[in-house]
Amino acid sequence: MGSGMSLHCRVCGYHRMVMSGIGMSHYSFENCLESCVPAVRKKIRKIVKHKVHDYTFEFRCYSCQSCGEIMDKPYLYIQYDDDQTYETRFRCTKCRSRRLLPIEEEVLSALPCPSCKEITLTEVGMMLWD
Ligand SMILES: [Zn+2]
Ligand SMILES: [Zn+2]
Repeated sequence: MGSGMSLHCRVCGYHRMVMSGIGMSHYSFENCLESCVPAVRKKIRKIVKHKVHDYTFEFRCYSCQSCGEIMDKPYLYIQYDDDQTYETRFRCTKCRSRRLLPIEEEVLSALPCPSCKEITLTEVGMMLWD
């Protein structure tokens, strides 16, 4: 089961919902692919010629080292064909930087607010999604 956390800045009103983990539907590889962006889906269908042997899929939280934005991304790692591997790489949703740092959900509220840069983020809610 995955979880989602709602972050709110009590100073500037910044609000962000981030998800982490996996849902019930992600026990099938096809469903995992559906959660990825179209470009990743296309790329995987193109590179996997024979068979996906193993894979890891989950939503992960990231903090951008360039602009400070907080976001979640569908992370996918696959082993396919003859010892080939593929891992999704991400860019920041806001500034397109590749300098994304994976963040544990527990420490999200200790990060500076992406908008006003103060340490003012609070968790206003936590929910479980399937
Ligand atoms: Zn950024
Ligand atoms: Zn703020």
